[in-house]
Amino acid sequence: MAYTIQGKTQEWEVVVGLEVHAQVTSKAKLFSGASAAYGGAPNSQVSLVDAAMPGVLPVINSYCIEQAVRTGLGLRAKINEDSVFERKNYFYPDLPQGYQISQYQKPIVGEGVVMLDMEDGTRREIGIERLHMEQDAGKSMHDQAPSSSYIDLNRSGICLMEIVSKPDMRSSGEAGAFLRKLRSIMRYLGTCDGNMEEGSMRADVNVSVRPLGSSRYLTRTETKNVNSVRFVMQAIEFESNRQTVAYENGDSVIQETRLFDSQCSETRAMRAKEFAHDYRYFPDPDLLPLKLSSSFIQKIQDGLPELPDEKRDRFMEDYELKAYDAGILVADQEVANYFEDIAIDHDPKLSANWIITNLFSVLKKLGCNIVESPISASDLGELIGLVEDNTISGRTAKEVFDTMIDTGKSASDIVDEKGLKQISDISQIDTIIKQVLTDNPKQLAQVKAGNAKVIGWFVGQVMKATKGKANPEIVNKLLREKIK
Ligand code: MN
Repeated sequence: MAYTIQGKTQEWEVVVGLEVHAQVTSKAKLFSGASAAYGGAPNSQVSLVDAAMPGVLPVINSYCIEQAVRTGLGLRAKINEDSVFERKNYFYPDLPQGYQISQYQKPIVGEGVVMLDMEDGTRREIGIERLHMEQDAGKSMHDQAPSSSYIDLNRSGICLMEIVSKPDMRSSGEAGAFLRKLRSIMRYLGTCDGNMEEGSMRADVNVSVRPLGSSRYLTRTETKNVNSVRFVMQAIEFESNRQTVAYENGDSVIQETRLFDSQCSETRAMRAKEFAHDYRYFPDPDLLPLKLSSSFIQKIQDGLPELPDEKRDRFMEDYELKAYDAGILVADQEVANYFEDIAIDHDPKLSANWIITNLFSVLKKLGCNIVESPISASDLGELIGLVEDNTISGRTAKEVFDTMIDTGKSASDIVDEKGLKQISDISQIDTIIKQVLTDNPKQLAQVKAGNAKVIGWFVGQVMKATKGKANPEIVNKLLREKIK
């Protein structure tokens, strides 16, 4: 799925790399015992370490280490048994230490891979460069008082994983698919809840363009802290078009940090100075190098759940689903469970279809997720069963489905109450067919003269006479027999 921009003189290829900050799911912060919960009153979750009081020392939270290793294994990445925490020095009002404890030369996780299933059935492999651990900073609040800024240190010291991709993405669509896949993997693992609106996942978006066919990377820009998948995609669209126009007009692209303005879907230059940082990294003397034993890593590996890719392969194998459909069902663990609850007793393709086309649009309309679905898996399974045993037609089933949502009643109750049972009784249908044929001698003559199209018209008449309840397959078969 190559994505290019047609310029005046040539075609341009888009090159995207992402740096994702993902908040580790953990009760406590990375180097202190303070709570990492979201939404507490400002400065209610701050230890002396988080406030960087003199003389206090960080103590590493081993659960956070486990979570980072688990994520690395989920990304099929190399886990480094030796890694080092370093100080990244810079001043920021909401960073009381004056430095961020991060990893630089020796991150905990090395190269890995994320697999994307694109809509056209193709598969794309996006490389992971590294995953390192670091602490989050606090938050400056500029809207609390007219002439002063306040600082909330609740976030200060929370454990983040910075996951850096290779510049392997070639369109905004691939970047969106990458973020959704990464989020899905971390949710399966329980290592990051992926709630972008709460800031627990945000992305720095690196974009450049180059003439199609070139293997050289041109100057990139970095759009910082984009907090939704849609915004990331919009930022890429905007940036790639802006850069293409610049090159085509004979201008250059400046390497700089940019901001995304979600109001106008544009990126804007921040001060160019921001890019010229020299952080003066050095190993944090308060923390020993981190050494992991291979048994520690193996134990985490052994405890990994079935991940989205494995589940997708199993769904394709066991239920004969197409890759893309299987990919949609496994993206959310709860959806996958819902599907399997139905597919164990019913036709898997029919079940997948009902979930993806009918149920999803209802959930979207109601703004709820599958766990909050007004129709349970067993309720939907019952409806699908009625289609499978020919009690109702597929078309009637849609009507029953809508009524289920509106009334909360079961499929079989609705079918009984509304008298929607399909007529599959041959003698009953036969009688109606005879009547319809007798009533329409002109059309009958046309069929007999070889006009096959008119058979379809007769099917329609029979369906009309039965208010759509006759089994269309039986009607078709009997009609053809009769006319012969
Ligand atoms: Mn970072």
